[in-house]
Amino acid sequence: MSIIQDVIANLVEKENGQPEFIQAAREVLNSLEPMVQKHPDFIKAKIYDRIVIPDRVIMFRVPWVDDQGEVQINRGYRVQFNNAIGPYKGGLRFHPSVNLGIIKFLGFEQIFKNSLTTLPMGGAKGGSDFDPKGKSDIEVMHFCQAFMRELYRHIGEDTDVPAGDIGVGAREIGYLYGYYLKIVNANASVLTGKGLEFGGSLIRPEATGYGAVYFALEMLATRGLDVQGKVCAVSGSGNVAQYTIEKLNQLGARVVTLSDSNGTIVDAAGIDQEKLHFILELKNFRRGRMNEYAQKFNVPYYPDKHVWEVLREQNIKVEIAFPSAHENEIDRANAESLVKNGCVCVSEGANMPSNLDAIQVYLDNNVLFGPGKAANAGGVAVSGLEMSQNSMRMSWSREEVDQKLQVIMKNIHRNSLEASEAYGVPGNYLVGANIAGFLKVAKAMLAYGIV
Ligand code: NDP
Repeated sequence: MSIIQDVIANLVEKENGQPEFIQAAREVLNSLEPMVQKHPDFIKAKIYDRIVIPDRVIMFRVPWVDDQGEVQINRGYRVQFNNAIGPYKGGLRFHPSVNLGIIKFLGFEQIFKNSLTTLPMGGAKGGSDFDPKGKSDIEVMHFCQAFMRELYRHIGEDTDVPAGDIGVGAREIGYLYGYYLKIVNANASVLTGKGLEFGGSLIRPEATGYGAVYFALEMLATRGLDVQGKVCAVSGSGNVAQYTIEKLNQLGARVVTLSDSNGTIVDAAGIDQEKLHFILELKNFRRGRMNEYAQKFNVPYYPDKHVWEVLREQNIKVEIAFPSAHENEIDRANAESLVKNGCVCVSEGANMPSNLDAIQVYLDNNVLFGPGKAANAGGVAVSGLEMSQNSMRMSWSREEVDQKLQVIMKNIHRNSLEASEAYGVPGNYLVGANIAGFLKVAKAMLAYGIV
């Protein structure tokens, strides 16, 4: 058995209650096979065995009091996975599905994603099984304060800098940062995604969605294609989905789908800017559901269905797909139907939205496939730029940040493509991104000796 397969077998034996983490590790490790023999020093220093084990896992209880005066208890996590190339960096997810395996999968992915941005950031992730949906603002505030009451001692601008993710948007970041400031009595760049009034960066809210579109543009350009006039599918209706649609509209594409955890809408005429404004208000302020969109604009709504299921069952043609909701949204059957219905490009806004079978379908059918750790790295890249601006005590204009984001996404694309060519799988961005992200971290770990 190869070194890589040994590491996978060991993980399967030791971490068998963490399927998402095993899936993410398997995907990365398998794609490193083409480079193993070229780097015997990595084998000798057991870099592959070491990189799959977090530096540390922090787990804590989060007790808080709801509006009825009842005590509620949630589980809190921060997995500080690897800080070889910079302070730990990665978002916080508040969602009932959160458990240690999910946070480890996200933290592991973050190591390579952050490395790809070319900025000095290590990999981490955190969160809680708290569900902000249906909670009052006061309840969300009480929870965020209770969460920060423990988290604050583990983070710092040179140590670990969390940000948002599913269920953690501008409101939650405000409450978390406000409480950090209260306890520590110091303004510090200890969270990113902050409001503009207290150290946030322009373009941070837009960065992940815009970045996923910029990455798609780069992939399409290798075949002389563009997004203009293309029919696109986007899933989810949160931060990433919203700004993916905005950028696609600016570039003349037509987005025909959106979803939330209750169902999917299909709007064949396209979700234009006016409809997008309705979504921003619905999702970010009224915190309503997608069926309200269907009622307002008189379009079909499919309750309890994912975008990709609806596209398959209704045989809807889309040319470019931006899965932007959550992990494992797209399985083999949905990927096969995407291909059958003319999809030429998949740019992942979410983390690991395509399962391993779906990825194989894309690769077998020559679909341009931008894996999440490359395609959605724009968010953490602008978080890195937020940290730089905080350190310099100044802020860049919208145009400057957008320009830097575009350069970073181009570089991620080029580095991934070049690595895919150098290791004998040209155009395979999955292998290219994993190898390019891994090499920098592995070389740093090697330089540090056995620590
Ligand atoms: P949000 O919380 O803003 O939005 C998430 C969207 O996905 C919501 O529409 C939500 O619906 C839907 N969703 C979440 N879980 C499920 C589920 N189990 N089933 C069906 N729908 C679901 O999160 P983001 O937009 O920030 O994140 C989306 C994805 O992008 C995640 O995979 C995240 O890790 C990834 N990502 C985010 C980055 C960022 O900067 N925000 C950066 C890089 C990656 P509902 O409202 O009903 O829950």
